[in-house]
Amino acid sequence: EQGDDNHLSQLASVGQIAAGIAHEVKNPLTAVKGFLQLLQREKPHQYIDIAQSELESALAILNNLLQVSKPDLENEDYQTLKLSVEIEAILNLFLDKMYDIEMITEFKHPDALIYGKKNQLKRAFFNLIKNAIESIDGKGTVTVIQDIEDKDVVITIKDTGVGIPKEKLTLLGTPFFTTKEQGTGMGLAQVFSVIYQHEGKISVESKEKVGTTFTIKMPLNKKVRKRGIKRLELNYKENF
Ligand code: ADP
Ligand code: MG
Repeated sequence: EQGDDNHLSQLASVGQIAAGIAHEVKNPLTAVKGFLQLLQREKPHQYIDIAQSELESALAILNNLLQVSKPDLENEDYQTLKLSVEIEAILNLFLDKMYDIEMITEFKHPDALIYGKKNQLKRAFFNLIKNAIESIDGKGTVTVIQDIEDKDVVITIKDTGVGIPKEKLTLLGTPFFTTKEQGTGMGLAQVFSVIYQHEGKISVESKEKVGTTFTIKMPLNKKVRKRGIKRLELNYKENF
């Protein structure tokens, strides 16, 4: 197991640079979007549709990036919530889309409360569960367990997917790092940022061709201080 502070602070500054670029690029693209809409009204053409849809993808990536790097811009308030309820709602979003993947869930302390930003946390668990599902090619299992350990609510998300090669572990959470053809590489960056803001911890264990387990620890019923994003925390483990 290794916690690499230097790497992690590097990640955070890469995120800040990326956010700066995203912000600058978003404005002209938004202008282009407006002019394309005008043009489409005056002189409709199928190529304009394509341009608009490509532009929407680009803007979605930029918005994602901005949310990851400056989550407080969303200005969501902290509230007391049951993480189990939020995670269950997320799992339900995926259930009807899964044929070959079995989903096992166990909420050992379903009433455990944490203090957090509901939508951001939902988004983080959405990203983690989506990755777990996407890691499985064909049949497999995703197991989500909620428990209490010391003063933390602990969530583990375990998949029987492709796993992550050792040399790629340290790249997790770097904005734009993806191994997927259609990936954005923004999911884990959002996850790390949100968990850090909540004074939580995240660790990952993975083995190629066996699977991956993400473990998230959130302080139980504790009002967290408002935090800037200075450092992201992740512990890596090569093997189960
Ligand atoms: P994306 O899903 O768009 O690729 P993410 O930030 O969510 O972006 O994930 C980045 C990369 O991390 C993925 O492309 C994949 O290589 C790796 N990864 C994340 N979660 C898992 C997982 N559960 N199993 C295997 N690889 C994973
Ligand atoms: Mg993802």
